[in-house]
Amino acid sequence: MMKRIAYFSQVLLAMIFLTCLTAVAEDRLNVVATNFPCYDFARQVCGDGAEVTILLKPGTEAHAYDPTPADIIAIGDADLFVYIGGESDAWADGILASFDEGDRPATLRMMDCVSDLVEEDDADAGHHGAVPEYDEHIWTSPVNAAAMVRALGEALAGLEGADADAFREAASAYAAQIEQIDGALRRLVEGAKRKTLVFADRFPFVYLTREYGLDYMAAFPSCTADTEPSAQTVMALIDKVASEGIPAVYTIELSTRAVAKTVAEETGVEILTLHSMQTVTQDEFQAGESYVSLMGRNLEALQRGLE
Ligand SMILES: [Zn+2]
Repeated sequence: MMKRIAYFSQVLLAMIFLTCLTAVAEDRLNVVATNFPCYDFARQVCGDGAEVTILLKPGTEAHAYDPTPADIIAIGDADLFVYIGGESDAWADGILASFDEGDRPATLRMMDCVSDLVEEDDADAGHHGAVPEYDEHIWTSPVNAAAMVRALGEALAGLEGADADAFREAASAYAAQIEQIDGALRRLVEGAKRKTLVFADRFPFVYLTREYGLDYMAAFPSCTADTEPSAQTVMALIDKVASEGIPAVYTIELSTRAVAKTVAEETGVEILTLHSMQTVTQDEFQAGESYVSLMGRNLEALQRGLE
């Protein structure tokens, strides 16, 4: 009997707790973001001023994600929906169009917030006719990331009931942190012994390398190709590392590292990870990693690879 009473009181407590949570949630703005950069920027700018939800769950491959019915409902309920507007969340436009005008959330499409998009140099691109496809990994350039954060601050400030000044200030503060990394990257590349990165992996960093004038050679021309590279390509990577005395070969997060291991075994160089942040692991998510903390690690990895 005592056990049972204890059980019921626990349930009751849980119910009271949940009711409180719902009451808090109703007062706050509700922001829904597709991938990790959108999510991180939104939570940094919102602070306690909004509930921020990420649709692409940690540990999930960004390019294989499809929205669930619950995701679609969450988008419909959002005060602001934030997405990249590239290949990986191309589904969003269809969902947004399917809502009646009155039910459609305010939206921020990040690819509209940066200039000089890079056309995707991909075999698949040809199938889509005359419309060019742009590489979607725009946030890998801190310059773009800062612009995205400021745009987000403006979008939030424009929402009904928003504390506009607080959102603008928070956006400015986070953009400033990102701009510090930008400065550090500029100084690093300026003083670096070499300017070439070798990626034995997919390549989501075209905006990063372009921003800082870095050269690269990659196993795949973009981020989406994930079939095995040809023996010729692997040989070319090994050749490049060996002939130029390059000290490291790069992989990205959630990678099998298969190609990198081959290159590393043949050349004796170390394998370094450059985090594209299109998705994060469960551990990284739980540890509260942010764009700034992960980019800080990228800075260290670049330092080692460019010496
Ligand atoms: Zn990607």
